[in-house]
Amino acid sequence: MSATPVTVPFVDLSWQHTPLKTEIEQAIQNVIDRGDFVLGQALSEFETAFASACGVDNGIGVASGTDAIALGLQACGIGAGDEVLVPANTFIATVLGVIQAGATPVLVDCDPLTALIDLKAAEAAITPQTKAIVPVHLYGQMVSPTQLLDFASTYNLLIFEDAAQAHLARREGYVAGGVGIAAAFSFYPSKNLGALGNGGMLVTRDRDVAQKVRTLRNYGATSKYYHAQLGKNSRLDTLQAAVLNIKLPHLAQWNQWRNQAAQTYDRLLQPLKVKGLVPIENQSDLGHVYHLYIIEVSELFPVNRSEVQNKLADRGIQTGIHYPLPCHLQPACGHLGYRIGDFPHAEKLCDRILSLPMYPGLSQDRIEFVCEQLLSIAGIFSI
Ligand SMILES: *Cc1c(COP(=O)(O)O)cnc(C)c1O
Repeated sequence: MSATPVTVPFVDLSWQHTPLKTEIEQAIQNVIDRGDFVLGQALSEFETAFASACGVDNGIGVASGTDAIALGLQACGIGAGDEVLVPANTFIATVLGVIQAGATPVLVDCDPLTALIDLKAAEAAITPQTKAIVPVHLYGQMVSPTQLLDFASTYNLLIFEDAAQAHLARREGYVAGGVGIAAAFSFYPSKNLGALGNGGMLVTRDRDVAQKVRTLRNYGATSKYYHAQLGKNSRLDTLQAAVLNIKLPHLAQWNQWRNQAAQTYDRLLQPLKVKGLVPIENQSDLGHVYHLYIIEVSELFPVNRSEVQNKLADRGIQTGIHYPLPCHLQPACGHLGYRIGDFPHAEKLCDRILSLPMYPGLSQDRIEFVCEQLLSIAGIFSI
């Protein structure tokens, strides 16, 4: 069988790298010349710049978003015996971070329209052991900061944001990373701000938490060869930070282009709403940074989700499913004791969602092509 040529890729990273190629090469060369590959100058510069973009004072570069969650929670004093509220429909790394911190993840269902953690459901899951909530700003949309702050103060819980999909997202006057005691970011290559490899950052306004993560990421060293705690080797490489320094000034613009692309999708897909194909709801307008653009293909739609995905693939359009199996049903989480039916909204979404191509630089023509194909799949032949 010959492969269908790609007409619309799911993500195109060359689009952001090509115009910055010379600058990136120069930045890499500078690090090679300096030779400060670990905890070097470009890292401190990037930590300051990224934390400041989030509206907080401290940024600590770590090896991945997963480590930012694990080390960050640990630095916040969360560990063995503590329960942490986490949405069931997140990427597994959120759950892994909580477990690696030594705490117990307590999964919570989501709002069916936004796919964000449902705070009413979170309320019902609170026990005397509950110490924190990890809201995931999923797909690039923040969980309502005012509702979160209200919730956390009512129940005396820490807020630790998983902002791995939400660099510079905004809502109700807050920026992602600036709501809770601390927040974790990932610079995995396809994130809104991506390195040329793995990377992550913990941002916090709390100096004590910042100091603890600085120690934990560096073998628990308080000074060279003196180890107050059992830490990890988890630093963001200077080379990656140097590349991220080049990209950071473009992030706001890239996010804006993502948001514009999403608005075009929303407009062109409008006629499909009555047919049962509905985008995940945007409750934060221009503040949504659309790490992913997700539609829900309900039972009403004439064609089922996997058929839609196949038909788009036949036309060279790449799509994804984020995520096909909720955390509570992952074999790796079997020991947590959850069952099918525990989180009906999350389960239903997993069966219905489809991620359409989304990246800054996705052209109007390509969006129109994707939407035309979806309309024709539904039996509508003109936009
Ligand atoms: C990507 C991601 C992570 C993990 O980041 P890594 O850098 O891949 O470890 C955590 N949470 C969410 C929601 C993510 O999308």
